[in-house]
Amino acid sequence: MRRRSEWRSPGRVAEMSEALISMGSNVDRDVMLGRAMRAMRQHPGMIVLATSAVYETAPVGGIDGAPDFYNAAVRVSTDLDPTELREQLRLIESRLGRVRTGDKYAPRRIDLDLSLYGNLTEAFEGWELPDPELVKYSHVLVPLAEVAPGWIHPTEGVTLDELTDKVVAEETELVRRAPDALRRIVPSDGRFSVDFEADPGEVYDPEMESLVRNLLVNVGEDPEREGLLRTPLRVAKALDFLTSGYNEDLHAVINNAIFDSEGATEMVVVKDIEFYSMCEHHMLPFFGKAAVAYLPKGKIIGLSKVARLVDHFARRLQVQERMTNQVADSIVEVMAPHGAAVVMAGHHLCMMMRGVQKQSSAMITSAMRGTFKSDARTRSEFLDLIRD
Ligand code: ZN
Repeated sequence: MRRRSEWRSPGRVAEMSEALISMGSNVDRDVMLGRAMRAMRQHPGMIVLATSAVYETAPVGGIDGAPDFYNAAVRVSTDLDPTELREQLRLIESRLGRVRTGDKYAPRRIDLDLSLYGNLTEAFEGWELPDPELVKYSHVLVPLAEVAPGWIHPTEGVTLDELTDKVVAEETELVRRAPDALRRIVPSDGRFSVDFEADPGEVYDPEMESLVRNLLVNVGEDPEREGLLRTPLRVAKALDFLTSGYNEDLHAVINNAIFDSEGATEMVVVKDIEFYSMCEHHMLPFFGKAAVAYLPKGKIIGLSKVARLVDHFARRLQVQERMTNQVADSIVEVMAPHGAAVVMAGHHLCMMMRGVQKQSSAMITSAMRGTFKSDARTRSEFLDLIRD
């Protein structure tokens, strides 16, 4: 699996645009939307911000007996330009087995169409933005309006929500929402809930699930016995959540929670931040508490965002030393303070379960930046403050 830790490292600040992508499938439709979703989530050039419910629609073009479609929409943040983004969507389509033919009404495994890119209006070779289909068909527009109701259509001059009323009123064949279980093909908010349960009939990630099934066989288990039947699905969900830091953008995590310090120059300390991560050597959990401090230079950050920064770096495969440094460096990057300091105390299951480490002893790591490094008094003030 491709990973994007470098791409999303704090040092890289890219120019981001938002885009809307329309999805459709009427061959293997129960699994294709989920797989396309996953491919987009893992793509280094896209951050999935929101996904719609799945809608079921009769095919356009009036072909008798053609299977009904599932349609959905995705809102992404991207640093690809429109042509690159469209190319990457085509690549995902062909990886998922789509063969494009001249027949635009032919049944297809997966369709990923770039519908809107910011407020761009432009004709490219053989395609254009906005996609003209979105003002014609409710199966395209309704899911798009669900993920971006207030998005103003650049040529119509009204929001997608307002446009929906108009398009739906003119169409005879209305879209209908697919059965509820299908909504869960895609996580509804683009991030991952902590719901690791398996619903009846739920489809999540067939590829990952088959890898986990193989893993079960290889450890000597029978994946067909009752207790394990839905385990591959639950593991796929759990792993998605536990590694969701890879798919987040640091700046989206902070989400404008940086404020003017209004002259405050006192040290800010946030301690007892719980973290849960997985060691990259054994993929076993390590967990503990972090203390984060900085000396403001004009800017302060919302307290809850400090904990979110720690989560951002914890939810991936890690070593504790690197995670400590990454949190300190990200504080420096987003606030440019006089100095920053991070101390983490972690318990590592890969050692505890083997009896290598005494159950009670924690591994301590620290990272000092700026004045915390150069000034012994600042450093000891911080260390005094976090002492229990
Ligand atoms: Zn380990």
